[in-house]
Amino acid sequence: MTATWPERYAASLMNTFGPPKLVLTRGEGAHVWDEHGKEYVDLLGGIAVNALGHGHPALVEAVTDQLKTLGHVSNFFASRPQIELAEKLIELVVESTGGGAPGAKVFFSNSGTEANEAAFKLTRRTGRTHVVVAENAFHGRTMGALALTAKEAYRAPFEPLPGNVTFVPYGDADALAAAVTDETAAVLLEPLQGEAGVNVPPQGYLARAREITTEHGALLWFDEIQTGIARTGAWFAYTESGVTPDLITLAKGLGGGIPIGATIALGSAADLLEPGNHGTTFGGNPVATAAALAVLHVIEKDDLLQRATTVGARLRDGVAADPRVTEVRGRGLLIGLDLCADASAEVTAAALEQGFIINNPTPNRIRLAPPLVLSDPDVEAFLAAWPAILDAAGVESPS
Ligand SMILES: *Cc1c(COP(=O)(O)O)cnc(C)c1O
Repeated sequence: MTATWPERYAASLMNTFGPPKLVLTRGEGAHVWDEHGKEYVDLLGGIAVNALGHGHPALVEAVTDQLKTLGHVSNFFASRPQIELAEKLIELVVESTGGGAPGAKVFFSNSGTEANEAAFKLTRRTGRTHVVVAENAFHGRTMGALALTAKEAYRAPFEPLPGNVTFVPYGDADALAAAVTDETAAVLLEPLQGEAGVNVPPQGYLARAREITTEHGALLWFDEIQTGIARTGAWFAYTESGVTPDLITLAKGLGGGIPIGATIALGSAADLLEPGNHGTTFGGNPVATAAALAVLHVIEKDDLLQRATTVGARLRDGVAADPRVTEVRGRGLLIGLDLCADASAEVTAAALEQGFIINNPTPNRIRLAPPLVLSDPDVEAFLAAWPAILDAAGVESPS
């Protein structure tokens, strides 16, 4: 008897994620196929990563051309795509703040947690160590990023973690004001909380966070790893707030599936890290930065900001039409919805059975973060199947 792929996975990979739901073999646009040839509409996009879907020609071409030309150079040397991407990101940041982002600079890494790790180290260079972070936030799994993540189940096995971190309820500006002092190095917030099942803060919260941090000379740091790069219908989710932060971290959607992280510091924060303070072997790799440039180019060329807004609104309205959905949150194509029962695992399994990939971040919440190129027919197919998915999962209408 030859072992199956899932058996081989279980025998050879550390059990950090539990058993995988499927073994995928191929993707095209917002569709993927499993090892048995079954087709799925991907409404999760590799968790908000595959902005251009699977196998986008512009991404394939950019990566292929760059790899043929120059693959890896180390940070003793510079490459053109690295410089061009940094310039492009700075241009987008300046634009998103209406010109209010003086002297921004970028540090490239390979993942979200690394982008946050670099930013965390940067905050230490202020001479202060205290960081204020929101409860229910997710900032990554390395020791530094984990120290900034409140979730007890993630933290407990790895204590002691770097300290002097205060957790406050997300969206509560008064709690934030009470926690921040003249000793605070930074306040770290997601403009919308992703892993928590998509929480949108009250109007004015980010602006209050800006006032509070400015008053105490602390840095305002937005983790845009999940929300950034067109996901919410804007280049950055903070854009809508009119706030200019001091630090922005990016990853997920930036490389369209090629690993890359970016830490962007604005104004005087841009010069806090000095030679020798931080480093990386792969960060800023020519292939990864060429991939990200292609992603940004396609988003602009195909107006995917607008597409995320339009398609997101249709998806939100469509799923909300079923009375078993009690609340829908989010912006653009980062969508969280609450079910009337704790059945998100069953609903996710029923969706998969019917050929749709969705995600269940909490027992009663579903998250959608599809490729920005999700087609109208795919949206309508999912919405048409949605009531039957809830039926199959045994979710009953609230009386
Ligand atoms: C995914 C995520 C991270 C961690 O990114 P990794 O690439 O998994 O290390 C950090 N912050 C937020 C908001 C995220 O969504």
